[in-house]
Amino acid sequence: MELWQYILYGVGALLCAFVVVTLIRAAFFNEKKLDLPPLPDEDVDVDRALESLSSAIQIPTISYPEHEKVDWAQFAAFREFLVERYPRITQTLTRELVGEASVLYRWAGTDPSLDPIALLSHQDVVPVTPGTEGDWTHPPFSGHNDGEFLWGRGSLDMKNHLICVMEAVEKLIAEGFTPARDVYLCFGHDEEVVASDAAGAKSIAELLKSRGIHLDSVIDEGGAWLKANVPHVLNDRWLAGIGISEKGYVDFEISVAAKGGHSSAPPNHSALGELAVAIADVEKHQFKPKLFPFMTQLLANVGRAGTYPVKLLLCNVWLLKPVIKAVMRRIPMAACMVRTTTAATMAEGSPACNVLPQKASAIFNFRMMPGTTIADVERHLHRVIRNKNVQIQFVKGKEASPFSPTDSRAFKVMAELCKQMNANSIVAPYLVMGGTDACFYEIVCENVNRFSPFEITAELMGCTHATNERIPIATVGGGVAFFKRYIRKLANNE
Ligand SMILES: [Zn+2]
Repeated sequence: MELWQYILYGVGALLCAFVVVTLIRAAFFNEKKLDLPPLPDEDVDVDRALESLSSAIQIPTISYPEHEKVDWAQFAAFREFLVERYPRITQTLTRELVGEASVLYRWAGTDPSLDPIALLSHQDVVPVTPGTEGDWTHPPFSGHNDGEFLWGRGSLDMKNHLICVMEAVEKLIAEGFTPARDVYLCFGHDEEVVASDAAGAKSIAELLKSRGIHLDSVIDEGGAWLKANVPHVLNDRWLAGIGISEKGYVDFEISVAAKGGHSSAPPNHSALGELAVAIADVEKHQFKPKLFPFMTQLLANVGRAGTYPVKLLLCNVWLLKPVIKAVMRRIPMAACMVRTTTAATMAEGSPACNVLPQKASAIFNFRMMPGTTIADVERHLHRVIRNKNVQIQFVKGKEASPFSPTDSRAFKVMAELCKQMNANSIVAPYLVMGGTDACFYEIVCENVNRFSPFEITAELMGCTHATNERIPIATVGGGVAFFKRYIRKLANNE
């Protein structure tokens, strides 16, 4: 045999061995069995919690970027509602008004040497798009309970979370529980207002910092139990994504100045034409996808829970990284999890059909992966836009959050509770695509996690910020039980 034949046979044998090893590996690529004891039953008054949530929804605490547009009396009414509805909390915890309408509760612990924990929620909701009120099956601020769902703005984002925290604390006090660590309840008032100077959560975090407080952990909205029933991939599972970071956000305006004039004697390219080329330049140069450790962990956990073909594919994530990235970058819903996204959003030219623009501009909105900064994005724009007459102007932005560790006590408690409370959970760390109040607490905490303990379908998820926002009433009791257990475990190691 000649040398090339030896090489060919050698390569063939290696490939065969690899296929055989993968086939066997996939067969044993199963979920790790966690040896967790069953949780004792939790005393939860579900009817009371549902009534509380319904009442909370009926107070339209809508936030707007324009201060004068906000009905501050509704926020005052909401605070008053909390005071009256939760007499034990009112008696036992201290309460401070922070900024315009944010609330900070402190439940004093018995051991001041321990770092406190914080549970976050926002009181505000987004408005109902004018003209769509009639599209709702039940009015958006009715808090109507039809026996299956509780309807209304805030039922998922996130008065459900806030009310379940309050119900849990009220019940724990009634049961005689005293925390060892201080427990803070931080309820901002302007999370839904997209502005980098959102004042509520930021003010609370800065207040805590000014008092020299360092938090053991923070829990806020972000992930949830999301129904995952994909034929031939996952059978009747729930994806419990615990958000350990959130993407950054930045808007840049790109613009071209020109002489303008009458459109009857135009140059070959108007300012708008030049701008169009620049927009194409930016869209052509997308940020490179990267599989962060959280993503490989998420894929591996899904693989372990999946059908055999899925196991076959995902038991070798390390090897298939280039293929996975190539596939994910083609699907917008997947691409946003592996790369900094680029979206051209608003464009403007001249004010009339027969007027050449004196300035043409467009906005690019980027959502950055952790590790990519606003300055990186600006450098990227300067590099990829070939026309150097194009002006690049920062508008507003917020850096991406660092990743919270997944080996912290807080993450472990959450992951275990997810598994114990829903045996069909696939628990994994994940990256929150939108913004939350949680990011402001990075100045006082390293363990910032984002999870709402509710079982939700993708369809319901689509109703947040939209028409027919509603929560299945069957998941509300679990929310209260989750927070009772979470507080006991994290504040007292019970
Ligand atoms: Zn929210």
